[in-house]
Amino acid sequence: MSRQSFIVMVRAKASGHLVGAWLRAGVFVLWSIGVQAASSIQPMQPVRVVLLTGFDPMQPSVLALSNELRSRLETSLAQSVEVEVDAIDGSRSPDNLMPDLLALMKKKYASEHVDLVVGLGSLAAKFTSAYHAQIWPATPVLLSVVPDEWLARHALPADFAHVPYQVESAKTLDIAEALQPDARQLVVVSGTTDADNAQADRIMTTAAARRSRWPRVEAWHGLPLQELQAKLATLDLHTAVIYAGEHRDRDGRRYVPYRLVAPMVAASRAPVYGLFSIDIRQGAVAGAAYDFDENGRLTADAALAILRDGGQANGRQFPALPARCTANVAQIERHGLAVAALPADCLLLNLPRSLFREYRVAMLVMLLVLIAQGATILALLAQRRTRRRAQAEAVARRSELARAARFATVGELSASIAHEVGQPLGAILSNADAAELLVKASRVDHAELEEILADVKRDALRANEVVQRLRALLQKQGVTFCVLPLDETLRCALTLVEPEARRRNIMVDTRLAADHVEVLGDRVQLQQVVLNLAINAMDAMHDTEPGRRLLTLESVLLEHGVEFSVTDRGAGVDAALAQRLFEPFYTTKEHGMGLGLSIVRSIVEAHRGRVSVASRDGGATSFVVWLPRATR
Ligand code: ADP
Repeated sequence: MSRQSFIVMVRAKASGHLVGAWLRAGVFVLWSIGVQAASSIQPMQPVRVVLLTGFDPMQPSVLALSNELRSRLETSLAQSVEVEVDAIDGSRSPDNLMPDLLALMKKKYASEHVDLVVGLGSLAAKFTSAYHAQIWPATPVLLSVVPDEWLARHALPADFAHVPYQVESAKTLDIAEALQPDARQLVVVSGTTDADNAQADRIMTTAAARRSRWPRVEAWHGLPLQELQAKLATLDLHTAVIYAGEHRDRDGRRYVPYRLVAPMVAASRAPVYGLFSIDIRQGAVAGAAYDFDENGRLTADAALAILRDGGQANGRQFPALPARCTANVAQIERHGLAVAALPADCLLLNLPRSLFREYRVAMLVMLLVLIAQGATILALLAQRRTRRRAQAEAVARRSELARAARFATVGELSASIAHEVGQPLGAILSNADAAELLVKASRVDHAELEEILADVKRDALRANEVVQRLRALLQKQGVTFCVLPLDETLRCALTLVEPEARRRNIMVDTRLAADHVEVLGDRVQLQQVVLNLAINAMDAMHDTEPGRRLLTLESVLLEHGVEFSVTDRGAGVDAALAQRLFEPFYTTKEHGMGLGLSIVRSIVEAHRGRVSVASRDGGATSFVVWLPRATR
């Protein structure tokens, strides 16, 4: 309890208000805790990281790494982040400048708080190992992109952490061996800086261990670009070139290493291998390559881990920077090498454009749509085939039914047909009797005999005609559509009905005015239409006075078609029932089957026509059939 609250409590006790005093003291204590807490909240300090590079700070590897470091720290930490880049460019700053550099840095960071120093490359490792205690005494140091051999040769201070980095020249050689199985010569291109030499030595050592595979190994150190290009132009596919990086040539000219790749590749007849993905993007065929962005991300992750642990760096070792098989497909194809020879997990860059690769999703969707469409079309075709088969079967059934109905019709007409055939046969018999008498009387009158024979012949032909017509109507044959003269077809059908009409005292009036008009149809089926309508007409006139019984067969030419009608003076048709008459099995007759009109309608519709019934003046009924004219 604070001194003030104690005094308040004592005074309150004295005034006798004990409860109120305790309450007031409580409120005061809470207030004083609040004030103390508020005074301890200060604006958050920014996290300050120094990126100390042993390379040219404008080199893509350093730019990528500093970018990744900045953005990773900014997105992962609550405080604001300041990344300061300082360079000890090894290829520019000779060792004798180091004391001056140290003095400058000490001054610069004397009053500045730094949370972490990230050193890049062996030069930064060397500098921080020697001087960090003087420049940033209490600051943790993280080293990255320092080759493992350097670390093995130098003892790091205890509070240093590092991200292991082992240049994978063996893996790059594996890739060259796979892509160029017949190559036996290896050329290692490098510059003259310490880093260039160290890199070249690593590759030479690895190649030396594979002497049987690479019996000829040459090191091209510090060649000026033009000379390098000229020498590369003399090589062929029996040589593999590994580019170790050239920062400076033997004449002291300085290069940004990756920028030499494109001119080297343009000149070289042998494939050039690289150790960084940027080299492969520039035209090197392949290599076990480090990617600067990836290195940046892993280094940033390590930096974050140290910052989050309150700056604990002490000897920590983070996941190593990975070298990944990376290949430039266009360059591999340019040299006629096989992409298939690469390891399965190789990252393929510069792939030739492929519709399927670029629009994979759209192409897959399109493919699915095409498959679905194909399936729909197949289903529709199958459906159409089934429907056609069903239609063909229906036509066959209909024609069988029609034929059965024709037998029934002929049955109905049998009495008159018998009479029609019997009449000429009777006449033939009478004529034969007369001729016999003439012969027996030995009075052969040749002229008379000729006349008798002519009559016999005519009657025989008449009887034969009736039989032929019946045969044609009843014979079993398929439906055959041909161009027919309509009036002649109607007339022919009428001859089969006329004897029956005579028998029933019905007059037949024929008004055929569609002479020479042709329709496309089946002769027998069209005659069946006329027969069915005419027999119905005659049936309808059963109760009509014999003197009024008249059956009219009429045809008339219309613009696009032709119409024929069968009219009677019979019982008439109830308008409400007109459509029902055409339904199968609808009949009002005692022995009717109710199939005549339904057969008429199906035949007419199969001929692309239509049939209707109409009441005429004076109780007459007309069945009208419209048919399209045949076009030639
Ligand atoms: P069915 O002759 O065996 O009865 P149809 O299908 O030929 O079968 O005729 C169906 C019905 O239509 C007949 O029973 C009859 O009632 C009616 N009908 C047909 N033609 C005529 C007509 N010309 N006048 C009046 N009614 C008719």
